[in-house]
Formats: sequence, structure tokens, C-alpha cells
Amino acid sequence: MTAGSPLPRLAIFLFIAACAYPFAASAQTVTLAPAIVVAGSPEIVHISAPEAKSIEGEWLGRKLEFFPARDHRTWIALAGVDVEASAAASSLQIHIHLTNNTTRDLTQAIEIHPAHYRTGVLTVSPKFVEPGPDELKVIAADSEIKAKVFATSAAEPLWSGNFRAPVHSPPTDSFGTRRTFNGKLASIHKGMDFRAPMGTVVHATNSGTVVLARPLYYEGNCVVIDHGLGLSTLSMHFSRIDVHEGQHVTTGDALGLSGATGRVTGPHLHWAVRWQGAYLDPAKLLRLNLDGVH
Ligand SMILES: [Zn+2]
Repeated sequence: MTAGSPLPRLAIFLFIAACAYPFAASAQTVTLAPAIVVAGSPEIVHISAPEAKSIEGEWLGRKLEFFPARDHRTWIALAGVDVEASAAASSLQIHIHLTNNTTRDLTQAIEIHPAHYRTGVLTVSPKFVEPGPDELKVIAADSEIKAKVFATSAAEPLWSGNFRAPVHSPPTDSFGTRRTFNGKLASIHKGMDFRAPMGTVVHATNSGTVVLARPLYYEGNCVVIDHGLGLSTLSMHFSRIDVHEGQHVTTGDALGLSGATGRVTGPHLHWAVRWQGAYLDPAKLLRLNLDGVH
């Protein structure tokens, strides 16, 4: 076969086409961090789509809210899988609306891997395990307050950069623990406990708006910060609250002093991360690299 005959030219064309095809096909790509998804995992969903106008997403019945990252080439959603989610295949639905008025479906199958959480036994005051009629009224009123607080969230991300630990005290590896209180009540621990001595200053873990700052029955003196797009952080059992509802805070601002109010076995700080009703592992949120993202 001589050079210039049709066959090598066809081969060259096919080679170039094969090389070019993956780039054309991957004009928009989806990546999740962390890459291995487990129950309780917060996830940053990155979509490389410079030519996107808007992106719609849904995962496990929750709506993903994408916003353009600082580089204007990537779109980001901060999402996650609830601690109680079962290990199974899931569908991450993504529809990209492009500037040329076409739509691309980037729906992916995502495997939820099992998380291995421990079990624990605790003893608290009996009024927290078998509340009386008066206490049940307080608990019901608290539920209404919380439902109202969690019903709304800022329409844009209020956080900026990485989340930082609320106290300098050592954390415990207690997220997701299946707990039995006084041999009766079983519940899942949906936050992270820090061994904060009474009176330790508790800081805002990122910027946002204080949407709740008041005493509640189980949570004790509680502060909830809305970080926007359905993401909030909750700090509980304060001895003193130093912020008010409606106040804007930035990373590191003092929220109050840790204590032992509410359902506790002793002084500590309980810190929880909530996204659209899902409770996520705070330790993993602290490890997410969000610098330069927003
Ligand atoms: Zn706790």
C-alpha cells in the first residue's frame, strides 16, 4: 500500500475522530468529592460546563441548587446523603441548559456505600426519655419553631471558603452512632460532639445568618446558622447565647459559650450539619476543600 492511497487516509481520519470524540463527549463532566459516597457524606458536585445557562439537579428526592464557581467555567452544588440513607444504587439527575438553547442530560448512577457507625448506651435524666404532658407541650412547640426555621433558606450561598471547627476542644467520633438512652429510647446521633469544658467560646463555622438563637427542650440553648441553599449548621447545649435571630455572622464570630443545657450527660458542644433535612457528617464537611469555590 502506497502513501496517499485512500485506506491510510481513512485510518488517519478514524484515528483523529477517535481521539477527538472523547473531548467532544466530555464537554460537560460531573465529578463528586469525596468520590466514594457513603450514608452521611456531604458531597460537592462539580460540573464543568462553561457554556451552561443553568443546571437542574435532583438526588434522593432533594433538589440540587447549582451556582457558578469563581472560575465561571464550573458549576457547584453542595449536597449530601442523609446518615440514615440505605446503601443502594441512586440516580443523580442532572440537566444542563446550554447557551445555544439545547439541553444535555448528565444523569449518573451513584452507588451509596454502607457507612460503619458504632452503637452506644447513655444515661440521661428520665424527663428526656419519658417526658410528661407539660414537657410534651414544650417539645411540640419546639417542633413548630424548628419546622418554620428550616422551611426557608437564602437563595444564594452565604458561606465562603472552608468550614472551620466551632471550638478548639477535641472532637469525638460520634456521628451516626446508634444510641440507647436509659435502656429504652433508640436514636441516631446526627452530629459531632466536642469535649468542650463549660464556658468554652463557640465560633461560627462559616458565614451565614442566625435563624434560631433560643432555648429548646432537647437541644438546650441552641443556635442555628443558615448558610444558604438549604445548608445550615446547628450548635447545642450552650450555657449562654451571644447572638440574636436575624444577625449576620462570619467565620470565627463568637456565638456564645458552651454548656450542658438540654438532653446531655455532661458539658459538651453538639454541632450538626443539615442540608435539606439530611444530616451530614460534620467531620467530612470540615475536610471539604471549598477555598476558591465560593
Ligand atoms: Zn451530641
